[in-house]
Amino acid sequence: MSKTLQSIRGMHDVLPEQTPAWQRLEAALAETAVAFGYEEIRMPIVEQTGLFARSIGEVTDIVEKEMYTFDDRNGDSLTLRPEGTAGCVRACLQHGLIHNQQRRLWYIGPMFRHERPQKGRYRQFHQFGVEVFGVKGAELDVELIQMARTLWSRLGIEDVRLEINTLGQPEARARHRQVLVEYLEGHADSLDEEARRRMHENPLRVLDSKNPAIQSILEGAPKLADYLDEESAADFERTCELLDALGIPYRVNPRLVRGLDYYNKLVFEWVTESLGAQGTICAGGRYDGLVEQLGGRATPAAGFAIGIERLLSLAGDEGDGARADVYVIVPEAGRQAAAMRLADRLRDGLAGRRVQCNLDGGSLKAQFKRADRSGAGLAVIVEDTEGAEVSVKPLRGEGEQRTVSADDLIDLLTDRSAGGL
Ligand code: ATP
Ligand code: MG
Repeated sequence: MSKTLQSIRGMHDVLPEQTPAWQRLEAALAETAVAFGYEEIRMPIVEQTGLFARSIGEVTDIVEKEMYTFDDRNGDSLTLRPEGTAGCVRACLQHGLIHNQQRRLWYIGPMFRHERPQKGRYRQFHQFGVEVFGVKGAELDVELIQMARTLWSRLGIEDVRLEINTLGQPEARARHRQVLVEYLEGHADSLDEEARRRMHENPLRVLDSKNPAIQSILEGAPKLADYLDEESAADFERTCELLDALGIPYRVNPRLVRGLDYYNKLVFEWVTESLGAQGTICAGGRYDGLVEQLGGRATPAAGFAIGIERLLSLAGDEGDGARADVYVIVPEAGRQAAAMRLADRLRDGLAGRRVQCNLDGGSLKAQFKRADRSGAGLAVIVEDTEGAEVSVKPLRGEGEQRTVSADDLIDLLTDRSAGGL
């Protein structure tokens, strides 16, 4: 017997019993973005490889080892997008969306990274992202954080906390980099292989290492905070002030550097203890240099991305698993057409309700069983070949079966007290 075909490792189907929770989450994300004045943008899933190398950075986990890169039939190097910011900036530049104007954009969709699959870490995963162009200052950064907090409260998520840090301007980072490299060189013997390799190419990322064996050395490393430029320091102070004024608690984490190169000034993460090692559900910050780096005019920018799978497991939305609200029962084959016509009238008259019609015969008992499994609260039994008369039977809770004309049925169903819907 041949082996059953499997999906790609780390890439998952969203099964019918899971889609309602996804839909509810997607709706809450979209509503929140719109409430803050954001517009949706949809970018292609595939981009030129160079876009990611130029934006995310050559010496990052993503570009070094996580991208799905391939040559297409013309020999062009293409990559399945590992994140949304680069493509969003590319689209804005291509279509002149941020020319002399502010833009607030949001998107949602699959991202691809070749990582070791585990709970909360997949090779195809989904992100909800927002990007704002043309707005400088800590006020926007704090509004982004406020937006994430609004989401948590809409979704009933409590167990998340905010960590913030500032990466300063590139010149400040360069000054810090110099002393950091000297420090790391002095401790090279005690570092792991990855840290030694990165120490010259991207020393700030060494601080991001999760290897417990080298934590104490990293603790003693020169702090970026001591080398900050005045503007970044003032912005950071303003961020903290505004967060305090809005009653949003936070922790300053000097080790927070983010895995992508394009950030400057404020970076933040929302983390939870409830998801084990994969605890970051939202990450973002300012990236004032990226638009220019990709060929546009210097444009202040900031944004964040949320991992949908992690958010879903945190929101714990079980859903009711129902596929139908009303199930139409067809006691005889001769009443099938009438039943299908009636089902259509119900779908029209009860907008938003799910009406399922029995299609493949079966005894009354079998049909009631299917009705029950569909999750419907109500069975409608077609009593004649014209479908003029029907019986209505509540499937859950109390309530008598009653017979009415099809014309009265809709009125009955929209009257909640009588319809039991
Ligand atoms: P991590 O440190 O967990 O690898 P990251 O810094 O690579 O995260 P970002 O690129 O900032 O993550 O992506 C933003 C969010 O997207 C993360 O906070 C996380 O919720 C989610 N995410 C990132 N990679 C994955 C993945 N492989 N599977 C599922 N969710 C992911
Ligand atoms: Mg990662």
